[in-house]
Amino acid sequence: MVDPKSTAPAPTALEEAPSYVIDVQWYRDRSKSLVHLTERRMCAECRQEHQQGHHSEADETALWQEQLGRLAKCCSTKPGYVTARTPVLEAVLRLLMAHGNQPRTAEQLCDELNQRWAQGESMRDIPLGILQTLLDRHQSSGIVKALEPGEAAPEAAPTSS
Ligand SMILES: [Zn+2]
Repeated sequence: MVDPKSTAPAPTALEEAPSYVIDVQWYRDRSKSLVHLTERRMCAECRQEHQQGHHSEADETALWQEQLGRLAKCCSTKPGYVTARTPVLEAVLRLLMAHGNQPRTAEQLCDELNQRWAQGESMRDIPLGILQTLLDRHQSSGIVKALEPGEAAPEAAPTSS
């Protein structure tokens, strides 16, 4: 029985390209604080101003949104936020944070990453295919495919080659 809806769409079609986000629930399930995670990625000035000690779980979401806003306006624009030495998945995490954790496609992430790397002295760059593979294989990093509203779990689409 072949259900046409269950066959995977061509993964190369741009419209079908999945977007990625930071999986907030993934961090919650592991009792990892996104606020502390983000704090470590702020620039020195912001970190001093925004140091969060104990805060309630209810504060977490609001604090995190505030931090993301600051990253976008300040820290992510400074050199050193993403450098040629930043591991790829860490760099992706930082880019997603700098965009307020709005879904970004692998292509957008790849372009931005290569742009940032091109500003430094290194010749490092990453091909889209490799970034895509990394993102798909390393979902343990807390970065997941963003689901369209009403869409089933991402595992539903088998990769056919
Ligand atoms: Zn800053």
